[in-house]
Amino acid sequence: MTNDLIVVGAGPAGCAAALMAASLGQHVTVIEPGRVGGKLHEIGALENVPGAWETGPALAQSVAADLARIQKAGRCDLIQERAVSVAGHDDRAEVALTDGQVLAASAVVVATGVAPLTTGTCDWITAPADLELPPLWRARPEELQGRTYVLGADRPLGTWLRSHPDASRRLHVVYPPADHYKTDEVRHDDRVRLNRVDHVTVTRERYGQGYEVVVEGPEWSRTYAVDTLLGNLGSRPAALEGLVQKAGGYCPSEEQHPRVLTAGDVRSARFQRIVTAQGSGAEAALSRYYTAQAPASANASMAVRKEALRMSRDLVAMIDVEGMR
Ligand SMILES: Cc1cc2nc3c(=O)[nH]c(=O)nc-3n(C[C@H](O)[C@H](O)[C@H](O)COP(=O)(O)OP(=O)(O)OC[C@H]3O[C@@H](n4cnc5c(N)ncnc54)[C@H](O)[C@@H]3O)c2cc1C
Repeated sequence: MTNDLIVVGAGPAGCAAALMAASLGQHVTVIEPGRVGGKLHEIGALENVPGAWETGPALAQSVAADLARIQKAGRCDLIQERAVSVAGHDDRAEVALTDGQVLAASAVVVATGVAPLTTGTCDWITAPADLELPPLWRARPEELQGRTYVLGADRPLGTWLRSHPDASRRLHVVYPPADHYKTDEVRHDDRVRLNRVDHVTVTRERYGQGYEVVVEGPEWSRTYAVDTLLGNLGSRPAALEGLVQKAGGYCPSEEQHPRVLTAGDVRSARFQRIVTAQGSGAEAALSRYYTAQAPASANASMAVRKEALRMSRDLVAMIDVEGMR
């Protein structure tokens, strides 16, 4: 086994894990089928990343340069493939790739982020099976024609408004109750009309390019003719086979095998930010490093403690469920 660490995904979380491991003198293999930087490439305007970063692509470029530096120093290999599964064993962790390779290392950090939801996978939307909505984050203000509706209030809404301060067309945002907590950052923007709904039905206009959108609440229903329809539905965790998945399909690190760690957006719906992704990636690499340094007896007792913790959480969940019956 030549690898100390395998990192799956080269977004902010995976890159931070790789850089931290390399800085500790470890050898790391990063698996990434796309561009280094992940979602950073989709962010037009940034205001919450220390260091005066103004756009995602600029930060992505800098992170890619960091990864290239550790590759050049012989501490990192980048494999441009997709991982399909992960497995933890007593003496190693393994990652299987789509091309059939199985890589082994002392530990694996899975930082695969989240993948976009579609109208077909959202139970609050009924729409034609072949409807592919253009994503809001990619829309240019001049492309928005007439009455513009956005399905879903996911966070790119705030980013889009900040990226286009001069965009004047009103966005009618219809969203399910589960998205309500995400609307705070746009609530006071006059360019947005927020409409919390139970269900939306979309049909294409029989003649012309537009859509008919029926929105329904608990005791009301309204129908609108819509010229531009955009998707902003949110995402689901891009979990690999073999990860322990909890509510919503998320994969908390503390639920995994001791040699399998998760970092970034794949862990939880609540901490999906660049800086938290970087922090969790760096922390995952550091915690594996300290575990590997500790004497074998300490590691064994840590594994036992972790299993006991997991079992006690499952027990509490069972008691909660029983209590609700
Ligand atoms: C439009 C938009 C605007 C945003 N604006 C902000 C903002 O202003 N501020 C902020 O803090 N955050 C913002 N975010 C959130 C931020 O981008 C994420 O929290 C952050 O990128 C998460 O990092 P990550 O490394 O966990 O995942 P990602 O950045 O999603 O990276 C995951 C990587 O894993 C790879 N991958 C996926 N599956 C596999 C697989 N099977 N095998 C191998 N590799 C795989 C992907 O190709 C990707 O490169 C925004 C997100 C979007 C979409």
